[in-house]
Amino acid sequence: MIVMKFGGSSLSTSDALARVAGVIAERVSRMPVVVVSAIGKTTDRLLAAVAQAADGRQGEARRSVAALRDDLRDTAAPVLSDVPAFDTLLDRHVEDIERLLTELQAADDAARPALTDALVSHGERISSQVMARVLRRHGLDSVHVDVRDVLVTDDRFTEAAPLFGPTNDRLRALVRPLVEGGRVVVMGGFIARTADGRPSTLGRGGSDFTASIVGAGLGVAEIQIWTDVDGIMTADPSVVPEARRVRQLSFAEASELAYFGARVLHPSTVLPAIERNIPVRVLNSMKPEVEGTLILSQCPPSGSTVKSIASKEGITVIDIRSTRMLMAHGFLAAIFEVFDRYRTAVDVVSTSEIGVSVTIDRTDRLADITAELRRVADVSHESGQAIVCLVGDAIRHTPGVAATVFTALEAINVRMISQGGSRTNISVVVDERDLPAAVAALHHALFADLDTSSEPSVHSRTTACER
Ligand code: ASP
Ligand code: MG
Repeated sequence: MIVMKFGGSSLSTSDALARVAGVIAERVSRMPVVVVSAIGKTTDRLLAAVAQAADGRQGEARRSVAALRDDLRDTAAPVLSDVPAFDTLLDRHVEDIERLLTELQAADDAARPALTDALVSHGERISSQVMARVLRRHGLDSVHVDVRDVLVTDDRFTEAAPLFGPTNDRLRALVRPLVEGGRVVVMGGFIARTADGRPSTLGRGGSDFTASIVGAGLGVAEIQIWTDVDGIMTADPSVVPEARRVRQLSFAEASELAYFGARVLHPSTVLPAIERNIPVRVLNSMKPEVEGTLILSQCPPSGSTVKSIASKEGITVIDIRSTRMLMAHGFLAAIFEVFDRYRTAVDVVSTSEIGVSVTIDRTDRLADITAELRRVADVSHESGQAIVCLVGDAIRHTPGVAATVFTALEAINVRMISQGGSRTNISVVVDERDLPAAVAALHHALFADLDTSSEPSVHSRTTACER
Protein backbone atom coordinates (compact mmCIF):
# COMPACT_ATOMS: atom_id res chain seq x y z
CA MET A 1 0.00 0.00 0.00
CA ILE A 2 1.22 3.55 -0.73
CA VAL A 3 -0.18 7.05 -0.29
CA MET A 4 -0.05 9.35 -3.32
CA LYS A 5 -0.76 13.02 -2.53
CA PHE A 6 -1.23 15.57 -5.29
CA GLY A 7 -0.98 19.33 -4.68
CA GLY A 8 -3.26 21.97 -6.21
CA SER A 9 -0.93 22.89 -9.06
CA SER A 10 -0.73 19.22 -10.11
CA LEU A 11 -4.51 19.37 -10.65
CA SER A 12 -4.92 22.84 -12.12
CA THR A 13 -5.74 22.04 -15.78
CA SER A 14 -7.61 19.32 -17.68
CA ASP A 15 -4.30 18.03 -18.99
CA ALA A 16 -2.86 17.95 -15.49
CA LEU A 17 -5.85 15.97 -14.21
CA ALA A 18 -5.49 13.46 -17.02
CA ARG A 19 -1.74 13.21 -16.42
CA VAL A 20 -2.28 12.54 -12.72
CA ALA A 21 -4.81 9.82 -13.56
CA GLY A 22 -2.15 8.21 -15.76
CA VAL A 23 0.44 8.43 -12.98
CA ILE A 24 -1.94 6.72 -10.57
CA ALA A 25 -2.97 4.08 -13.11
CA GLU A 26 0.66 3.07 -13.60
CA ARG A 27 1.03 2.45 -9.86
CA VAL A 28 -2.20 0.63 -9.24
CA SER A 29 -0.40 -2.60 -8.34
CA ARG A 30 1.08 -0.81 -5.32
CA MET A 31 -2.44 -0.27 -3.92
CA PRO A 32 -2.47 3.54 -3.83
CA VAL A 33 -4.56 5.64 -1.48
CA VAL A 34 -4.93 9.02 -3.22
CA VAL A 35 -5.02 12.30 -1.27
CA VAL A 36 -5.70 15.52 -3.18
CA SER A 37 -5.51 19.22 -2.41
CA ALA A 38 -8.08 21.61 -3.80
CA ILE A 39 -7.74 22.31 -7.54
CA GLY A 40 -5.29 25.12 -8.39
CA LYS A 41 -5.84 28.22 -6.25
CA THR A 42 -9.31 27.19 -5.02
CA THR A 43 -8.51 27.63 -1.32
CA ASP A 44 -7.07 31.13 -1.83
CA ARG A 45 -10.15 32.08 -3.81
CA LEU A 46 -12.58 30.69 -1.23
CA LEU A 47 -10.71 32.55 1.51
CA ALA A 48 -10.95 35.75 -0.55
CA ALA A 49 -14.72 35.25 -0.71
CA VAL A 50 -14.77 34.68 3.07
CA ALA A 51 -12.97 38.00 3.58
CA GLN A 52 -15.36 39.81 1.24
CA ALA A 53 -18.42 38.41 3.01
CA ALA A 54 -17.02 39.17 6.45
CA ASP A 55 -16.47 42.71 5.21
CA GLY A 56 -20.11 43.03 4.18
CA ARG A 57 -19.40 42.77 0.46
CA GLN A 58 -21.82 39.91 -0.14
CA GLY A 59 -22.34 40.61 -3.86
CA GLU A 60 -18.63 40.57 -4.53
CA ALA A 61 -18.20 37.36 -2.54
CA ARG A 62 -20.89 35.63 -4.56
CA ARG A 63 -19.39 36.79 -7.83
CA SER A 64 -16.01 35.41 -6.73
CA VAL A 65 -17.61 32.06 -6.01
CA ALA A 66 -19.49 32.05 -9.32
CA ALA A 67 -16.23 32.72 -11.18
CA LEU A 68 -14.55 29.91 -9.27
CA ARG A 69 -17.39 27.56 -10.14
CA ASP A 70 -16.96 28.36 -13.85
CA ASP A 71 -13.21 27.81 -13.68
CA LEU A 72 -13.59 24.49 -11.88
CA ARG A 73 -16.12 23.37 -14.46
CA ASP A 74 -13.85 24.38 -17.34
CA THR A 75 -10.96 22.49 -15.75
CA ALA A 76 -12.78 19.27 -14.95
CA ALA A 77 -15.48 18.90 -17.64
CA PRO A 78 -13.13 17.85 -20.47
CA VAL A 79 -11.91 14.86 -18.45
CA LEU A 80 -15.24 13.69 -17.03
CA SER A 81 -17.71 11.35 -18.71
CA ASP A 82 -20.88 12.63 -17.05
CA VAL A 83 -20.72 16.43 -17.17
CA PRO A 84 -24.40 17.06 -16.29
CA ALA A 85 -23.93 15.06 -13.07
CA PHE A 86 -20.86 17.14 -12.30
CA ASP A 87 -22.82 20.35 -12.90
CA THR A 88 -25.43 19.23 -10.41
CA LEU A 89 -22.70 18.42 -7.91
CA LEU A 90 -21.07 21.84 -8.35
CA ASP A 91 -24.43 23.56 -7.91
CA ARG A 92 -24.98 21.78 -4.62
CA HIS A 93 -21.58 22.91 -3.38
CA VAL A 94 -22.16 26.50 -4.51
CA GLU A 95 -25.51 26.55 -2.73
CA ASP A 96 -23.89 25.52 0.53
CA ILE A 97 -21.05 28.01 0.04
CA GLU A 98 -23.59 30.82 -0.48
CA ARG A 99 -25.44 29.83 2.67
CA LEU A 100 -22.15 29.99 4.60
CA LEU A 101 -21.29 33.39 3.11
CA THR A 102 -24.56 34.76 4.46
CA GLU A 103 -23.85 33.26 7.88
CA LEU A 104 -20.32 34.65 7.84
CA GLN A 105 -21.53 38.17 7.29
CA ALA A 106 -23.73 37.97 10.38
CA ALA A 107 -21.21 36.04 12.51
CA ASP A 108 -19.08 37.57 15.25
CA ASP A 109 -15.32 37.08 15.39
CA ALA A 110 -15.57 34.04 17.63
CA ALA A 111 -17.83 32.18 15.21
CA ARG A 112 -15.87 32.97 12.05
CA PRO A 113 -13.07 30.37 12.16
CA ALA A 114 -15.51 27.45 12.28
CA LEU A 115 -17.57 28.92 9.43
CA THR A 116 -14.40 29.56 7.44
CA ASP A 117 -13.36 25.92 7.78
CA ALA A 118 -16.81 24.76 6.72
CA LEU A 119 -16.63 26.99 3.67
CA VAL A 120 -13.10 26.21 2.47
CA SER A 121 -13.77 22.48 2.94
CA HIS A 122 -15.64 22.63 -0.36
CA GLY A 123 -12.32 22.98 -2.22
CA GLU A 124 -11.10 19.51 -1.25
CA ARG A 125 -14.57 18.01 -1.29
CA ILE A 126 -14.91 19.02 -4.95
CA SER A 127 -11.36 18.09 -6.00
CA SER A 128 -11.56 14.63 -4.43
CA GLN A 129 -14.84 13.87 -6.17
CA VAL A 130 -13.42 15.13 -9.45
CA MET A 131 -10.34 12.91 -9.06
CA ALA A 132 -12.40 9.82 -8.23
CA ARG A 133 -14.48 10.41 -11.36
CA VAL A 134 -11.47 11.06 -13.59
CA LEU A 135 -9.94 7.79 -12.37
CA ARG A 136 -13.12 5.88 -13.15
CA ARG A 137 -13.07 7.30 -16.62
CA HIS A 138 -9.51 5.99 -16.90
CA GLY A 139 -10.85 2.54 -16.15
CA LEU A 140 -9.80 2.35 -12.49
CA ASP A 141 -12.11 1.02 -9.80
CA SER A 142 -11.91 4.19 -7.73
CA VAL A 143 -14.05 5.12 -4.77
CA HIS A 144 -14.46 8.50 -3.12
CA VAL A 145 -14.27 8.51 0.67
CA ASP A 146 -15.29 11.67 2.50
CA VAL A 147 -12.13 12.24 4.53
CA ARG A 148 -14.20 14.10 7.13
CA ASP A 149 -15.70 10.75 8.12
CA VAL A 150 -12.18 9.51 8.84
CA LEU A 151 -9.99 12.33 10.11
CA VAL A 152 -10.94 13.57 13.58
CA THR A 153 -9.41 16.73 15.06
CA ASP A 154 -9.69 18.98 18.08
CA ASP A 155 -11.72 22.18 17.69
CA ARG A 156 -8.97 24.71 17.05
CA PHE A 157 -10.61 25.77 13.80
CA THR A 158 -8.37 26.84 10.89
CA GLU A 159 -5.43 24.98 12.46
CA ALA A 160 -6.87 21.95 14.15
CA ALA A 161 -4.71 19.10 15.44
CA PRO A 162 -5.51 15.50 14.57
CA LEU A 163 -6.75 13.09 17.23
CA PHE A 164 -4.76 10.04 16.24
CA GLY A 165 -6.69 7.46 18.26
CA PRO A 166 -10.10 7.79 16.58
CA THR A 167 -8.52 8.72 13.23
CA ASN A 168 -6.42 5.55 13.10
CA ASP A 169 -9.40 3.43 14.14
CA ARG A 170 -11.45 4.84 11.30
CA LEU A 171 -8.65 4.52 8.77
CA ARG A 172 -8.37 0.85 9.60
CA ALA A 173 -12.12 0.27 9.70
CA LEU A 174 -13.23 2.35 6.70
CA VAL A 175 -10.30 2.75 4.34
CA ARG A 176 -8.16 -0.36 4.67
CA PRO A 177 -10.87 -2.87 3.62
CA LEU A 178 -11.58 -0.87 0.47
CA VAL A 179 -7.91 -0.77 -0.52
CA GLU A 180 -7.43 -4.44 0.27
CA GLY A 181 -10.48 -5.12 -1.85
CA GLY A 182 -8.60 -3.68 -4.81
CA ARG A 183 -10.21 -0.27 -4.97
CA VAL A 184 -8.41 3.04 -5.42
CA VAL A 185 -9.57 5.24 -2.54
CA VAL A 186 -9.57 9.00 -3.20
CA MET A 187 -9.80 11.47 -0.31
CA GLY A 188 -9.38 15.20 0.14
CA GLY A 189 -6.46 16.51 2.16
CA PHE A 190 -6.57 19.36 4.68
CA ILE A 191 -10.18 18.94 5.84
CA ALA A 192 -11.58 17.02 8.79
CA ARG A 193 -14.22 17.11 11.48
CA THR A 194 -14.16 17.57 15.24
CA ALA A 195 -15.24 14.70 17.48
CA ASP A 196 -18.70 16.28 17.66
CA GLY A 197 -18.94 16.52 13.88
CA ARG A 198 -18.13 20.14 13.03
CA PRO A 199 -15.97 20.79 9.92
CA SER A 200 -12.35 21.69 10.68
CA THR A 201 -9.10 22.09 8.75
CA LEU A 202 -5.46 21.29 9.52
CA GLY A 203 -4.15 24.72 8.45
CA ARG A 204 -2.84 26.01 5.13
CA GLY A 205 -0.87 23.46 3.16
CA GLY A 206 -2.45 20.77 5.34
CA SER A 207 -2.83 18.13 2.63
CA ASP A 208 0.74 16.95 3.12
CA PHE A 209 -0.14 16.42 6.77
CA THR A 210 -3.23 14.43 5.78
CA ALA A 211 -1.10 12.23 3.52
CA SER A 212 1.26 11.56 6.39
CA ILE A 213 -1.52 10.87 8.91
CA VAL A 214 -3.18 8.46 6.48
CA GLY A 215 0.10 6.77 5.57
CA ALA A 216 1.16 6.35 9.20
CA GLY A 217 -2.28 5.10 10.25
CA LEU A 218 -2.36 2.49 7.50
CA GLY A 219 1.33 1.61 7.83
CA VAL A 220 2.00 2.08 4.10
CA ALA A 221 5.29 1.27 2.37
CA GLU A 222 5.83 4.81 1.04
CA ILE A 223 4.22 8.24 1.05
CA GLN A 224 4.55 10.09 -2.23
CA ILE A 225 4.11 13.86 -2.29
CA TRP A 226 3.53 14.80 -5.94
CA THR A 227 4.31 18.46 -6.68
CA ASP A 228 5.39 20.55 -9.67
CA VAL A 229 9.13 20.43 -9.03
CA ASP A 230 11.65 17.60 -9.37
CA GLY A 231 12.18 17.38 -5.64
CA ILE A 232 14.40 19.19 -3.21
CA MET A 233 17.27 20.90 -5.02
CA THR A 234 20.87 21.66 -4.03
CA ALA A 235 19.96 25.37 -4.27
CA ASP A 236 17.18 27.56 -5.63
CA PRO A 237 17.41 26.94 -9.41
CA SER A 238 16.37 30.52 -10.14
CA VAL A 239 19.57 31.69 -8.42
CA VAL A 240 21.82 28.77 -9.40
CA PRO A 241 20.76 27.34 -12.78
CA GLU A 242 23.05 24.33 -12.38
CA ALA A 243 21.34 23.31 -9.13
CA ARG A 244 20.71 19.59 -8.96
CA ARG A 245 18.11 17.40 -7.43
CA VAL A 246 18.99 15.90 -4.06
CA ARG A 247 18.30 12.17 -4.10
CA GLN A 248 18.05 11.50 -0.38
CA LEU A 249 17.72 13.59 2.72
CA SER A 250 17.34 12.71 6.34
CA PHE A 251 14.34 14.08 8.14
CA ALA A 252 16.66 16.37 10.15
CA GLU A 253 18.16 17.78 6.94
CA ALA A 254 14.76 18.34 5.39
CA SER A 255 13.62 20.15 8.54
CA GLU A 256 16.60 22.50 8.55
CA LEU A 257 16.06 23.26 4.88
CA ALA A 258 12.40 24.03 5.33
CA TYR A 259 13.13 26.26 8.27
CA PHE A 260 15.62 28.26 6.24
CA GLY A 261 13.49 28.76 3.19
CA ALA A 262 13.38 25.69 0.96
CA ARG A 263 9.81 25.61 -0.21
CA VAL A 264 8.90 22.17 -1.43
CA LEU A 265 7.64 20.42 1.63
CA HIS A 266 7.23 21.30 5.26
CA PRO A 267 8.78 18.33 7.10
CA SER A 268 6.78 18.74 10.28
CA THR A 269 3.79 17.80 8.15
CA VAL A 270 5.33 14.38 7.48
CA LEU A 271 6.38 13.76 11.06
CA PRO A 272 3.77 11.04 11.75
CA ALA A 273 5.22 9.07 8.83
CA ILE A 274 8.84 9.64 9.79
CA GLU A 275 8.12 8.53 13.34
CA ARG A 276 6.88 5.24 11.95
CA ASN A 277 9.90 5.01 9.67
CA ILE A 278 7.86 5.35 6.49
CA PRO A 279 9.86 6.85 3.61
CA VAL A 280 8.47 10.05 2.09
CA ARG A 281 9.23 10.81 -1.54
CA VAL A 282 8.79 14.21 -3.21
CA LEU A 283 7.98 13.77 -6.91
CA ASN A 284 7.10 15.88 -9.97
CA SER A 285 3.72 15.08 -11.51
CA MET A 286 4.84 16.68 -14.80
CA LYS A 287 7.86 14.37 -14.96
CA PRO A 288 6.84 11.17 -13.21
CA GLU A 289 9.90 9.32 -14.51
CA VAL A 290 12.21 11.48 -12.34
CA GLU A 291 12.91 9.68 -9.05
CA GLY A 292 12.41 12.75 -6.87
CA THR A 293 13.82 13.24 -3.39
CA LEU A 294 13.51 10.55 -0.77
CA ILE A 295 13.23 11.67 2.86
CA LEU A 296 14.10 9.04 5.45
CA SER A 297 14.26 9.22 9.21
CA GLN A 298 17.91 8.24 8.91
CA CYS A 299 19.76 8.50 5.66
CA PRO A 300 22.75 6.44 4.52
CA PRO A 301 25.96 8.44 3.95
CA SER A 302 26.28 9.99 0.51
CA GLY A 303 29.10 11.59 -1.46
CA SER A 304 28.21 15.09 -0.38
CA THR A 305 28.86 16.70 2.97
CA VAL A 306 26.48 19.53 2.24
CA LYS A 307 23.20 18.38 0.74
CA SER A 308 21.56 21.67 -0.04
CA ILE A 309 21.82 25.44 0.36
CA ALA A 310 18.74 27.29 1.53
CA SER A 311 18.36 31.00 2.05
CA LYS A 312 16.04 33.47 3.64
CA GLU A 313 15.83 37.19 2.90
CA GLY A 314 14.29 39.99 4.91
CA ILE A 315 16.45 39.35 7.95
CA THR A 316 17.39 41.93 10.59
CA VAL A 317 20.64 41.59 12.51
CA ILE A 318 20.73 42.95 16.05
CA ASP A 319 24.15 43.61 17.59
CA ILE A 320 24.17 43.76 21.36
CA ARG A 321 27.42 44.98 22.94
CA SER A 322 28.41 45.28 26.53
CA THR A 323 31.98 45.40 27.77
CA ARG A 324 31.02 44.91 31.38
CA MET A 325 28.15 42.53 31.27
CA LEU A 326 28.64 39.86 28.69
CA MET A 327 30.49 37.34 30.72
CA ALA A 328 28.42 38.10 33.76
CA HIS A 329 26.21 35.38 35.03
CA GLY A 330 22.75 35.52 33.47
CA PHE A 331 23.41 38.13 30.80
CA LEU A 332 22.57 35.95 27.81
CA ALA A 333 19.56 34.55 29.63
CA ALA A 334 18.34 38.09 30.25
CA ILE A 335 18.74 38.95 26.56
CA PHE A 336 16.87 35.92 25.29
CA GLU A 337 14.16 36.44 27.85
CA VAL A 338 13.42 39.77 26.12
CA PHE A 339 13.01 38.12 22.72
CA ASP A 340 10.90 35.44 24.27
CA ARG A 341 8.62 37.91 25.99
CA TYR A 342 7.98 39.68 22.66
CA ARG A 343 7.40 36.35 20.94
CA THR A 344 10.13 37.00 18.41
CA ALA A 345 12.07 33.96 17.28
CA VAL A 346 15.82 34.25 16.96
CA ASP A 347 17.34 32.27 14.07
CA VAL A 348 21.11 32.70 14.13
CA VAL A 349 23.22 33.64 17.14
CA SER A 350 26.92 34.41 17.37
CA THR A 351 28.88 35.66 20.33
CA SER A 352 32.22 37.35 20.93
CA GLU A 353 34.06 38.67 23.96
CA ILE A 354 32.07 41.86 24.04
CA GLY A 355 28.85 41.16 22.30
CA VAL A 356 26.26 38.92 20.86
CA SER A 357 24.59 39.22 17.46
CA VAL A 358 21.28 37.64 16.64
CA THR A 359 19.00 37.58 13.61
CA ILE A 360 15.24 37.88 13.57
CA ASP A 361 12.81 37.87 10.67
CA ARG A 362 9.81 39.39 12.42
CA THR A 363 10.33 43.04 13.23
CA ASP A 364 6.91 44.10 14.54
CA ARG A 365 8.25 44.22 18.14
CA LEU A 366 11.74 45.43 17.24
CA ALA A 367 11.31 48.86 18.87
CA ASP A 368 10.18 47.33 22.18
CA ILE A 369 12.96 44.77 22.10
CA THR A 370 15.75 47.26 21.45
CA ALA A 371 14.37 49.67 24.05
CA GLU A 372 14.58 46.97 26.70
CA LEU A 373 17.97 45.69 25.63
CA ARG A 374 19.38 49.24 25.79
CA ARG A 375 18.94 49.20 29.53
CA VAL A 376 21.81 46.72 29.76
CA ALA A 377 23.82 47.10 26.56
CA ASP A 378 24.57 49.10 23.44
CA VAL A 379 22.24 47.98 20.71
CA SER A 380 22.21 48.56 16.98
CA HIS A 381 20.35 46.82 14.22
CA GLU A 382 20.42 46.54 10.47
CA SER A 383 17.72 45.29 8.15
CA GLY A 384 18.11 44.06 4.57
CA GLN A 385 20.18 41.03 5.55
CA ALA A 386 19.92 37.42 4.43
CA ILE A 387 20.74 34.04 5.93
CA VAL A 388 22.39 31.41 3.79
CA CYS A 389 22.15 28.01 5.36
CA LEU A 390 24.18 24.96 4.35
CA VAL A 391 22.59 21.73 5.44
CA GLY A 392 24.01 18.23 5.72
CA ASP A 393 24.16 15.68 8.53
CA ALA A 394 27.77 14.90 7.56
CA ILE A 395 28.92 18.47 8.36
CA ARG A 396 29.11 17.29 11.95
CA HIS A 397 32.06 14.99 11.34
CA THR A 398 33.68 16.51 8.27
CA PRO A 399 36.60 18.84 8.97
CA GLY A 400 37.18 21.88 6.78
CA VAL A 401 33.65 22.79 5.76
CA ALA A 402 33.91 26.19 7.41
CA ALA A 403 37.24 26.78 5.64
CA THR A 404 35.63 26.00 2.28
CA VAL A 405 32.83 28.39 3.11
CA PHE A 406 35.20 31.23 4.01
CA THR A 407 37.28 30.72 0.89
CA ALA A 408 34.20 30.70 -1.32
CA LEU A 409 32.94 33.89 0.29
CA GLU A 410 36.31 35.68 0.15
CA ALA A 411 34.91 38.58 -1.85
CA ILE A 412 31.73 38.93 0.19
CA ASN A 413 31.27 40.67 3.51
CA VAL A 414 30.06 38.03 5.96
CA ARG A 415 28.22 39.56 8.94
CA MET A 416 27.83 36.43 11.00
CA ILE A 417 28.68 32.77 10.80
CA SER A 418 27.34 30.06 13.01
CA GLN A 419 27.26 26.33 13.16
CA GLY A 420 23.81 25.22 14.18
CA GLY A 421 23.19 23.51 17.48
CA SER A 422 22.34 20.31 15.66
CA ARG A 423 25.76 20.62 13.98
CA THR A 424 24.08 19.67 10.71
CA ASN A 425 24.05 23.20 9.39
CA ILE A 426 26.30 26.20 8.92
CA SER A 427 24.64 29.56 8.54
CA VAL A 428 26.17 32.76 7.26
CA VAL A 429 24.54 36.16 7.25
CA VAL A 430 25.23 38.50 4.35
CA ASP A 431 23.72 41.64 2.91
CA GLU A 432 20.65 40.84 0.81
CA ARG A 433 22.36 42.38 -2.21
CA ASP A 434 25.16 39.85 -1.91
CA LEU A 435 22.83 36.89 -1.59
CA PRO A 436 22.80 35.64 -5.22
CA ALA A 437 26.59 35.91 -5.44
CA ALA A 438 27.06 34.17 -2.10
CA VAL A 439 24.76 31.27 -2.97
CA ALA A 440 26.34 30.86 -6.40
CA ALA A 441 29.87 30.90 -4.96
CA LEU A 442 29.00 28.39 -2.25
CA HIS A 443 27.23 26.11 -4.68
CA HIS A 444 30.21 26.20 -6.97
CA ALA A 445 32.65 25.44 -4.16
CA LEU A 446 30.60 22.73 -2.50
CA PHE A 447 29.04 20.94 -5.45
CA ALA A 448 31.65 21.48 -8.15
CA ASP A 449 33.08 18.03 -8.46
CA LEU A 450 30.35 15.91 -7.04
CA ASP A 451 28.04 14.38 -7.19
CA THR A 452 26.81 10.95 -6.69
CA SER A 453 23.77 12.03 -4.78
CA SER A 454 22.25 14.62 -7.07
CA GLU A 455 21.92 15.41 -10.72
CA PRO A 456 21.51 18.46 -12.97
CA SER A 457 18.22 20.25 -12.81
CA VAL A 458 16.20 20.26 -15.98
CA HIS A 459 14.29 23.36 -15.13
CA SER A 460 15.47 26.73 -14.02
CA ARG A 461 12.47 28.53 -12.74
CA THR A 462 11.60 29.50 -9.23
CA THR A 463 10.29 26.67 -7.16
CA ALA A 464 7.16 28.40 -6.06
CA CYS A 465 5.51 27.20 -2.92
CA GLU A 466 2.67 24.91 -3.79
CA ARG A 467 -0.14 25.35 -1.38
N1 ASP B 1 -5.91 23.45 -0.17
C1 ASP B 1 -5.24 23.72 1.09
C2 ASP B 1 -4.41 24.98 0.97
O1 ASP B 1 -4.38 25.58 -0.08
C3 ASP B 1 -4.43 22.58 1.58
C4 ASP B 1 -3.28 22.15 0.68
O2 ASP B 1 -3.24 22.51 -0.48
O3 ASP B 1 -2.39 21.46 1.17
O4 ASP B 1 -3.81 25.40 1.93
MG1 MG C 1 1.23 22.00 -0.33
